[in-house]
Amino acid sequence: MDKTQCLIIGTGPAGLSAAIYTARAGMDTLALGCEPKVAGDYDIDNYFGFPETITGKELIDRGLRQAQRFGAKIECERVLDIHHGDGDGFVVKTIRREIKAKAVVIAAGVARIRPGIDNLADYEGKGASYCVSCDGFFFRNKKVIALGEGNYAANQALALTNFTSDIAIYTQGKASAINGDFTAQLEEASIPIINQKIVSLKGENGLEAAVLENGETIPVDGLFVAMGEASALDFAKSLGVTTKGAFIEADYEQKTNIPGVFAAGDCVGRFLQISVAVGEGAKAGRAAISHVKKGMKKGE
Ligand code: FAD
Repeated sequence: MDKTQCLIIGTGPAGLSAAIYTARAGMDTLALGCEPKVAGDYDIDNYFGFPETITGKELIDRGLRQAQRFGAKIECERVLDIHHGDGDGFVVKTIRREIKAKAVVIAAGVARIRPGIDNLADYEGKGASYCVSCDGFFFRNKKVIALGEGNYAANQALALTNFTSDIAIYTQGKASAINGDFTAQLEEASIPIINQKIVSLKGENGLEAAVLENGETIPVDGLFVAMGEASALDFAKSLGVTTKGAFIEADYEQKTNIPGVFAAGDCVGRFLQISVAVGEGAKAGRAAISHVKKGMKKGE
């Protein structure tokens, strides 16, 4: 398993800013994420120090080169899952590998794709969930669905095999974007990929059935939403980090309630601007440095 001291999820303004601080402090730093949305030909007019405006692409490119100059490793790699490791630290799973980290900065922006199910909110906590590692246990030997079209849904469906064998993936009518490796693993686990859209849910005391766009009603006990790619909120929920609505709760130093987990930028949901993301990233980096140093003093 690969190892790093600071793992940063996200390579937008918050993640890159955190990486500049942790790498410059001599911490082994790995930042995972792909081009953030702002890295296009958008003019950024309100960021300090650029009187003639700068494009989002150029700003991100500069931040990336700056973080790399101090030794940060930056990879375009999607994080699928994160959980607590044995003892101290965390284990981050990507499509390619697993990485052990002493500190984690969540800087993954806000990206949750809503599945478009009318009454989904009515069933949250009553059969509908966003987190297999939190809620999978409640669906032992039950009929469950992982909802999503990509590798994230595939990973969630495979994680559900720890609890039940009656699992299907529904893509919400989207073409499957699950890669060959995951497709083979799903086949081996007898998990079908069904290209249908669920439009509403049914059940008196919790989830009992899902209604498809074609009018058919199918029985289901648990629905695990995993659309698109795993989001900051999904990572928070897997780790037991406190959230409020769509955002992660972090204190003034960007610490979450879980020691060693920090959050910065849009995923914290304060003022969704680059300047704020950069500032919070710096604070999260500083807090991660002191967490790792404390562990080193204790000999961890
Ligand atoms: P983001 O920039 O959203 O970066 C999130 C990062 O997380 C990305 O690298 C993404 O790939 C990564 N990520 C997400 N999920 C995963 C996963 N599962 N695995 C690995 N990586 C993952 N703000 C201003 O101040 N001024 C402006 O003029 C301005 N214009 C904007 C124009 C546009 C078109 C947009 C979309 C936003 C604009 N904003 C502007 C807002 C600004 O872009 C955000 O506030 C800022 O980018 C937040 O930074 P962040 O690092 O928190 O998140």
